[in-house]
Amino acid sequence: MKARYKYRIYPNHIQITKLNKLFGCCRYVWNQSLAHCNQIYASGEKKLSYVDLTKQFITQAKQKLIWLKDVASTPLQQSLKDLDQAYKNFFNSCTGKRKGIKVKAPKFKSRKSRQAARFVGSNYKIAQDKIFLTKIGKVKIVWSRPLPNQPTSVTIIKDSAGSYFASFVVETNPEFLPKTENSIGIDLGISIFATLSNGDKIVAPKPLKQNLKKLAKFKRKFARTEKGSKRREKARLRVAKLHGKIKDIRTDFLHKLSTDLVKKYDTIVLEDLNVSGMIKNRKLAKAISDLGWRQFRTLTKAKCEKYSREFRVINRWEPTSQKCHCCGFKGGKKELNVREWTCLNCGTFHDRDINAAINILNTQSVVETVTQPITKVETVETKIAENQIQLSLFDVVAEGQPETNKRTRRRGKSSPKKDVRVDESSTRPESFKQLSLFD
Ligand SMILES: [Zn+2]
Repeated sequence: MKARYKYRIYPNHIQITKLNKLFGCCRYVWNQSLAHCNQIYASGEKKLSYVDLTKQFITQAKQKLIWLKDVASTPLQQSLKDLDQAYKNFFNSCTGKRKGIKVKAPKFKSRKSRQAARFVGSNYKIAQDKIFLTKIGKVKIVWSRPLPNQPTSVTIIKDSAGSYFASFVVETNPEFLPKTENSIGIDLGISIFATLSNGDKIVAPKPLKQNLKKLAKFKRKFARTEKGSKRREKARLRVAKLHGKIKDIRTDFLHKLSTDLVKKYDTIVLEDLNVSGMIKNRKLAKAISDLGWRQFRTLTKAKCEKYSREFRVINRWEPTSQKCHCCGFKGGKKELNVREWTCLNCGTFHDRDINAAINILNTQSVVETVTQPITKVETVETKIAENQIQLSLFDVVAEGQPETNKRTRRRGKSSPKKDVRVDESSTRPESFKQLSLFD
């Protein structure tokens, strides 16, 4: 299992200049190659391979452009590798080989957005409080938590707020937490972030809502500045920093909650929410984005994988809020403002969210799942044909992409019929255990 570990780094003025140069060179190589590939593509010829691109845009380019020699060459090669991978993902997505959300064609990189460069092999070395980077020097790093293993690569990142980070890819082994014999169903909502099937209600911070006025003020000031001026850059930085702060508050809450849940429960069941569909409702869009439902699912899933817990996401078409969990009677669709109701069949009084959470826990139709790690490999061949849909859930993540970015989201337009088809086979956890070996 691969995981990312990110640390803040503090380059000095000279190192910042060198890093900017490196980012610039990586961007140049990427953009030049991309432009060339687009041209070839337009003329109907076959795209150049990674090796050809390296020859043309690094080795040969260096003879003309001396400044390309001032930076380490591995980050340049890695940037072309990324381009190659981006094309592969795009083509595989077009032909249907790659499942999940449609991948778009690679884009040109801009000087103004987030910058990144990846070092591999002997191009970087880690020490007590420094990280050595070829042609940059020893940069101060703060090890906020220990690295569990020797990393395979490091990506140096400059975010839009001007902070620098080192992000390591590390091979980790699944860990085991003591069994608790407890399972939990979670209903996600807007006013109450999570309602658990045991009756607990968890309220989330709403950092965007709290900072909306401040953000609007900063943005207004930014809009008034003159293009290309120093004041504009200052104002832009202020907006970016506030956005960063909002994101940090949200992520911190989601991390704490998901860790807590994974520690307490052997099995965690969520509902598959059509977030991108809901965001189209403009009244709710801001509130929903502020909560980070999707991130919560991603984090919980990753932690379940790490700690060998079971994780399930149930079909979004299940009538979880309509059904009485005691007798199974369907009370029909309820408006969002109906928070409590009484079952007409058995007379049980329900809290809408708790009832839904219990239904989520008991639902068997699953669209995504993570189960305990593999112990046995048997009867694999026979399972493959009938489980091809599930194979896509375990798509290999490209090197250099965060592990948590696994694109497993089902497309918003998927019909209920299709979902049912997935459910039939996915309720058997054994088939997953075996299939995941083939990635
Ligand atoms: Zn009932």
